[in-house]
Amino acid sequence: MPPQLPPPPAVPVQRRRVRRLIAELRILRTAMDELSALVYAKDLAGRYTFANRATQALYGAAPHDVLGADDSRFWDMSRSEVLRHNDRRVIEDGLRLESEEQIALIDSEARTYFSVKAPVRDARGRVTGVAGVSTDITHFKQLESELLQKNALLESLLENVDACIYTKDRARRYTYANAKMADVVGREPQELIGRTDEELVAPEVAANWRVLDDRVLATGAKQSGEQISTSAQGEIRNFWVVQIPQRDRSGEIVSLLGIATDFTQFYRLKEELARQATTDELTGVRNRRSLLEVARQEFQRATRYGHPLSVLMIDIDHFKGINDRHGHDVGDTVLRAVANACRDELRDSDVLGRLGGEEFGVVLPNTGRPGALVVAERLRARIDALRLDGDWGADIAPKVSVGVACMQGAPRIEAVLKQADQALYAAKAAGRNCVQVAESVGADGSCAA
Ligand code: GH3
Ligand code: MG
Ligand code: MG
Repeated sequence: MPPQLPPPPAVPVQRRRVRRLIAELRILRTAMDELSALVYAKDLAGRYTFANRATQALYGAAPHDVLGADDSRFWDMSRSEVLRHNDRRVIEDGLRLESEEQIALIDSEARTYFSVKAPVRDARGRVTGVAGVSTDITHFKQLESELLQKNALLESLLENVDACIYTKDRARRYTYANAKMADVVGREPQELIGRTDEELVAPEVAANWRVLDDRVLATGAKQSGEQISTSAQGEIRNFWVVQIPQRDRSGEIVSLLGIATDFTQFYRLKEELARQATTDELTGVRNRRSLLEVARQEFQRATRYGHPLSVLMIDIDHFKGINDRHGHDVGDTVLRAVANACRDELRDSDVLGRLGGEEFGVVLPNTGRPGALVVAERLRARIDALRLDGDWGADIAPKVSVGVACMQGAPRIEAVLKQADQALYAAKAAGRNCVQVAESVGADGSCAA
């Protein structure tokens, strides 16, 4: 039987264990010294029992100057009250504590640390001190505060700017809407989030808004255009909208940023100016420039499609006499009455305008000579029957002479207008209150179209 081996001696085992522990401690020590955070431990009286290299460096002290010293040696305790307070809480409550500490080294500016402190216990579980790790977060706090300030500024801007501002994702669902945008839709801002225009506004408005969204997504570029909205009361408002695609790092469009400015007032002004530029103020029919413009367009269209086209020139007979007898204001009333009578008699497609003084013109699209003659005679008869009563004594019975001209293959609209003018002259010569057709129109009355 082999001899029983005696158990290995206890001392070498313990030594090995101690050696291993020392090695581990060295590793830990090295690791802690490499940390930029402050790692430290203090006893119950607040004296340092451990300080890593970052702590020593911060205090500008050698290890033996730190160990045994308390915080009042390094920190301005009148400005660092929180330090002692937190240490005491950890020791008294025996609990781990995470907190932000605003503390100041002597003769230095205050800095902010994120500190994690925990109680240190002996083998019997009694608290013998506090250990902590503090990370200087002053820079992050500054960034955070700048960010918060910028956010507050942005928020204030977004809420007070006189424009609708929103973002939509690729599926056209709102991801942000300021109060003004929500107002246009008649909802609270948060009610827009996650919804599309189709879920929020009338179908025709949503369709109108979609055009710009589609254009931005299709082109990948900033787009702008006019859009409309209707209020619950049916009021139409006009917006000038700019939409800008927002991209992620890979360049993919992830959302649309929209800025819509309400320009209803300017739009109405623009419309009014356009109306004024084409309207005769006295009678409300088109002015000379606008009528000649329409005549030119209709002439081109008729030439292109081979359709007939006629023009009437209407001149009030002896109008000067009306002015002379009753005054200019009454003359104006007669002008308005004649314009209204003509407007009543004409179809929507016919275009009436005042060429000047007491002379009107009518463009009759798709109308040949026979049709034009019928219209001219109807207008003449209508005005012949007109009686204007007022405080000017006897009724005024205005009469008109009418000249008719058809396109007749004329090279330019000016030629047709000249023929109508000649026909009008002929009607005057023929005794007035009658209709005459331009001489150049074929004897058979046909109107080449
Ligand atoms: P005829 O039958 O040959 O056309 O004679 P008439 O008197 O109508 O023609 P004339 O050209 O001699 O006179 C036109 C008058 O129309 C002269 C002018 O003072 C007047 N008139 C022109 N514009 C206006 C206007 O805006 N208001 C008024 N009340 N009169 C106007
Ligand atoms: Mg006249
Ligand atoms: Mg005249």
